[in-house]
Amino acid sequence: MTEAAENSDPARTQDGSSATDRVDVAVIGAGISGLAAARALIARGNSVAVLESRDRVGGRLRSPELGDGTGRVDLGATWFWPGEPRVTALVEELDIAVHRQYIDGDAIYHQPTGGQRIQGNPIDVPSFRFVDGAESLTEAVAAALPAGTVRLNTAVTRVEVADRATVHFPAGTITADHVVVALPPALAVERITFDPPLPERVAGLAAVTPVWMGSTVKVVVHFAKPFWRDHGLAGSAISHIGPMREIHDMSGPGGQPAAIFGFVPQSGPGPAPSEDEIRHQLVELYGPEAADPVEIIIADWRDEPDTSPPGVERLQAYQAFGHDLFQSPTLDGRLHWTSTETARVAPGHIEGALAAAERAVHAIASAETATTTLKGANR
Ligand SMILES: Cc1cc2nc3c(=O)[nH]c(=O)nc-3n(C[C@H](O)[C@H](O)[C@H](O)COP(=O)(O)OP(=O)(O)OC[C@H]3O[C@@H](n4cnc5c(N)ncnc54)[C@H](O)[C@@H]3O)c2cc1C
Repeated sequence: MTEAAENSDPARTQDGSSATDRVDVAVIGAGISGLAAARALIARGNSVAVLESRDRVGGRLRSPELGDGTGRVDLGATWFWPGEPRVTALVEELDIAVHRQYIDGDAIYHQPTGGQRIQGNPIDVPSFRFVDGAESLTEAVAAALPAGTVRLNTAVTRVEVADRATVHFPAGTITADHVVVALPPALAVERITFDPPLPERVAGLAAVTPVWMGSTVKVVVHFAKPFWRDHGLAGSAISHIGPMREIHDMSGPGGQPAAIFGFVPQSGPGPAPSEDEIRHQLVELYGPEAADPVEIIIADWRDEPDTSPPGVERLQAYQAFGHDLFQSPTLDGRLHWTSTETARVAPGHIEGALAAAERAVHAIASAETATTTLKGANR
């Protein structure tokens, strides 16, 4: 679309160094919102670089392999829901294998006297899961981008906006007409210096915007088999005692690999629960068969500096999600917000991240049309 596209090198990807230094759009963050924005921008002919601080794509979509190699489990996002058209369309376009969340059987209510079985399952709603883990969605989007688009291990530290934008990272800089900020706003203002500074209202809003699930501990417990199903249990539970407050089945299709997962919401800086505490709670709920899991994984999202700024649990202004100030670009119309927190539709969800990406791509397309029209008028 521009000279940048014509001149683009086969970019190098491991630390962002000596890669193409001029693109139409620089995207900061290779989570689902940044990758979806890149996909759409490239489809309309833009040259794009996606700069990612981690050594992997996916951000809050994180699905490591179990220790025994029997499958992947989700430490970040797990589900998408019927009625989320953007995720559904992307899954279909990329031909990603999904399966239905297991919700059959009874649920358990956990109270001080122990687990109380509830007839039926009022806890779960029908939803879908990714057979190979939610991270496989971002892996598939990234794999479909031109080679070298995503530059891993490239933490952006500074964005300068003058005639164009210059994005700085330890190994170099890249210039772009537009910058997409595809990370949680509170993290962006904590980690990245903007020059000129963001307008005061925008900076203030970003600084107080919660990071969705950024203060959550997610626990995945892998068992040899989904024994709870044999007892007519769905695997779901609600607990007012904890440590896990909300529990669900996380087994793969057909029950393998078998797993239960739970959320431990954190309202302060206290430690994550221990494996013993987790085992103890599961035995109270599901009986002695729960005493001997194959593996317990405890993922504390507060400890992920690429997701959560320090003190993330203090961010509680959820009314900032989808705020008006995130809907239009700032800094001379060059800086666009796409993380899920900025979405008007389904903020917090994968669907929200896709909706926010769509909005940013639309704004960039409109700005380019306006520039072209202006150039034509001045001729
Ligand atoms: C425990 C948990 C459970 C969840 N469950 C669900 C669920 O079931 N269903 C659902 O729809 N959603 C769920 N979510 C939310 C879902 O994961 C998010 O909505 C989605 O992944 C957000 O994508 P994003 O692109 O907006 O942000 P992110 O995924 O956070 O991506 C931001 C990216 O920016 C990178 N980055 C950060 N700083 C820099 C920097 N300075 N320079 C360059 N790169 C940087 C990060 O490494 C990251 O890759 C859950 C999240 C968590 C944590």
